[in-house]
Amino acid sequence: MQYQHILVAIDLAEECHPVVERAATLARSHNARLSIVHIVEPMAMAFGGDVPMDLSMLQQQQFDQARERLDTFTGRYGDMLPADQRHLAYGQPRQEIHRLAIEQGCDLIVVGSHGRHGLALLLGSTANDLLHGAPCDVLAVRLKKEE
Ligand code: AMP
Repeated sequence: MQYQHILVAIDLAEECHPVVERAATLARSHNARLSIVHIVEPMAMAFGGDVPMDLSMLQQQQFDQARERLDTFTGRYGDMLPADQRHLAYGQPRQEIHRLAIEQGCDLIVVGSHGRHGLALLLGSTANDLLHGAPCDVLAVRLKKEE
């Protein structure tokens, strides 16, 4: 079976380069299109949902910074990840990655087995979360644990 369109999801940490490398290798061998996505999580979520101040400016800055980091991060993949294949969305990672995979017609989502939220492994990582209700195959690339 050949994959046609692979979506790699990254948290923009340096550790996720092996995840993108794996997705890029798969895309080459399947002659598939490769897209990349980073989800900016709402600040209110990080603060528990109830923040008595206007976060819109901070959120815009957060989004602009993420755009810059995504462009820098993908720079080294050159032609494989042109601007229209780099996606930035705002919201809850599982929901937004699934939505994008459907919208873009992706048939494989590639993620790291863990990333920023090491402790979340105990509670359920993003990779684990993504499996629930996934609209296509999901590949979790095993990342070495930090010592
Ligand atoms: P985590 O479970 O948060 O430690 O992350 C596991 C993997 O999920 C990471 O290596 C990324 O591939 C993906 N991931 C985590 N957070 C995000 C995010 N905000 N946007 C896109 N992908 C993410």
